[in-house]
Amino acid sequence: MRRAIFPGSFDPLTNGHLDIIRRSAPLFDEMIVSVLNNPEKNPMFTVDERCEMVREVLPSVGTGGCSMLVEAFSGLTAHFAREREATAIVRGIRAVSDYEYELRMALMNRRLEPTIETVFLMAGEEYSYVSSTLMKQVFELGGRVNGLIPELVEKKMGEKNGDDQSGSPRTDKYSGRSRR
Ligand code: ADP
Repeated sequence: MRRAIFPGSFDPLTNGHLDIIRRSAPLFDEMIVSVLNNPEKNPMFTVDERCEMVREVLPSVGTGGCSMLVEAFSGLTAHFAREREATAIVRGIRAVSDYEYELRMALMNRRLEPTIETVFLMAGEEYSYVSSTLMKQVFELGGRVNGLIPELVEKKMGEKNGDDQSGSPRTDKYSGRSRR
């Protein structure tokens, strides 16, 4: 049984994450999308909301026969991977800026759990600039992010921002004004 975890904040899930899942899942028998419980980072969505969104969107992603699970976790990724008897940690790399951080994490995780390999996939070129943070910033300022995040996630972001989904203005949390 080849089991991998794909850990991240997923605050929120983007099409970039889904692209990594779609391309990496067929390499494994089972994959656990592992949602980090990180309330100290003041996430837009609670860990339960993030897990729920991933669960709802996942069936629309072809995973090549790989069984998909979604779980919240706290603490060290390497320890969670060991507890779940995973043999791999999947991560995505978008740009050189991701590389240094990911290298440090992969080396530390290998030191903690030498038998677990980190497997990197390069971002799809159409999503290589997509990050959860950028999506939140653009959305909150009234910009369009359709096609870059799943529709369900866009809807939930609208609900968080007090939108009625009819194109009415969003509150601009940066300036206190309303924008379209
Ligand atoms: P974290 O806070 O752990 O970086 P993220 O949810 O931001 O969590 O990202 C989880 C993983 O998905 C990371 O490996 C990140 O590099 C990768 N990732 C995020 N966005 C993209 C994208 N657009 N394309 C490819 N990989 C991505």
